[in-house]
Amino acid sequence: MDLDIDAGSAALRDEARAWLAEHVPAKPLPSMDTAEGFARHREWEALLAEARWSVVSWPEAYHGRDCSPLQWLLFEEEYYAAGAPGRVGQNGIFMLAPTLFAHGTPRQRDRILPPMATGEQVWAQAWSEPEAGSDIAALRSSAVRTDGGWLLSGQKTWSSRAAFADRAFGLFRTDPGAHRHHGLTYFMFDLRAEGVTVRPIPQLDGEPGFAEIFLDHVFVPDEDVLGEPGEGWRVAMTTANNERGLSLRSPGRFVAASGRLAALWREHGRPASAADRVADAWIGARAYQLYTFGTASRLAEGGSLGPESSVNKLFWSHVDVALHETALDLLGPEGEAAGSWVDGYLFSLAGPIYGGTDQIQRNTIAERLLGLPREARR
Ligand SMILES: Cc1cc2nc3c(=O)[nH]c(=O)nc-3n(C[C@H](O)[C@H](O)[C@H](O)COP(=O)(O)OP(=O)(O)OC[C@H]3O[C@@H](n4cnc5c(N)ncnc54)[C@H](O)[C@@H]3O)c2cc1C
Repeated sequence: MDLDIDAGSAALRDEARAWLAEHVPAKPLPSMDTAEGFARHREWEALLAEARWSVVSWPEAYHGRDCSPLQWLLFEEEYYAAGAPGRVGQNGIFMLAPTLFAHGTPRQRDRILPPMATGEQVWAQAWSEPEAGSDIAALRSSAVRTDGGWLLSGQKTWSSRAAFADRAFGLFRTDPGAHRHHGLTYFMFDLRAEGVTVRPIPQLDGEPGFAEIFLDHVFVPDEDVLGEPGEGWRVAMTTANNERGLSLRSPGRFVAASGRLAALWREHGRPASAADRVADAWIGARAYQLYTFGTASRLAEGGSLGPESSVNKLFWSHVDVALHETALDLLGPEGEAAGSWVDGYLFSLAGPIYGGTDQIQRNTIAERLLGLPREARR
């Protein structure tokens, strides 16, 4: 790809840099895994939207700026370099929205995207179930036909911030006779609808960052089915590929963190013992950045995200853990105190789990990219 940045993209980057310098809160917002922090992050989403920075890659008609994938990547780099808050709207904006663009109807897009862009409606991902995490096709939650829609029943778990979110998207079995990933349908539902119970699950730090969701004959109208009934697996792959392979974890986040790590190393007297690890983290973040530029070029030329997403996921999750471990080692006993490096470290530990564990990404790489024999499955 051509890595020279054209004048329009450079102007966009400068505009973003100036806006962020003026608006990023001087003090970090409280954690979005708490009710107060969630509300503050929602306000931040509204501010971003007002200046048309919340969904830069979307069409202008939906609050976006029609940015190319490369321009979006440049924006993300500025965003994280400025130390801007985490995105409470991320599940909707970076996972559900690309799915709506690929499989939704124009009416669904008109109805769902505007309040998503402004943070007025925040979405949770309701995929995992007690017996269906890695093996999502083993899910048991079901939907049965009723007048004008469907009745959803079952249990979802590990749903990030569902305790505070407004709506959720998930897969339900609509054909009990069909095998595994056949007979599934992709639904969007209201977390405050009759028949929905959301129970927070505290994390190790006590914050109610997760929730389990119980559904008891919850009515969902036909207009909230995404894609065709029975086609849920195919639709879900668009969401999963965006979670692993592009939009949920853009390289800007890791490039910024590796820059902060290099600064920390200098502040701590440039210890030779850590030099290689700091360099590895920095190079790893840059390698991920360049790989993602390649993905962006592929998409710009009409390509799509596929099983290569698993390479991305494995790569960034490892870079993130190594980077934060190095920072804590540099900090020594000081690293035990609460602070952004400890928070970042604890969150990095989840990277090899959410969005599909490392083991599952390795299976995908082995079987679908390298063509190795499939492992025996039940
Ligand atoms: C911070 C965080 C946020 C999350 N947010 C959400 C969310 O918002 N919404 C949501 O739906 N879910 C969410 N999850 C859940 C996450 O997607 C699941 O935890 C993940 O898919 C793993 O599923 P599981 O926990 O059921 O583990 P299991 O599937 O039970 O796996 C347990 C272990 O066995 C290994 N294993 C399983 N099958 C195989 C195999 N075939 N080959 C090799 N090894 C295997 C796994 O890799 C893992 O190490 C989140 C998780 C975390 C940590």
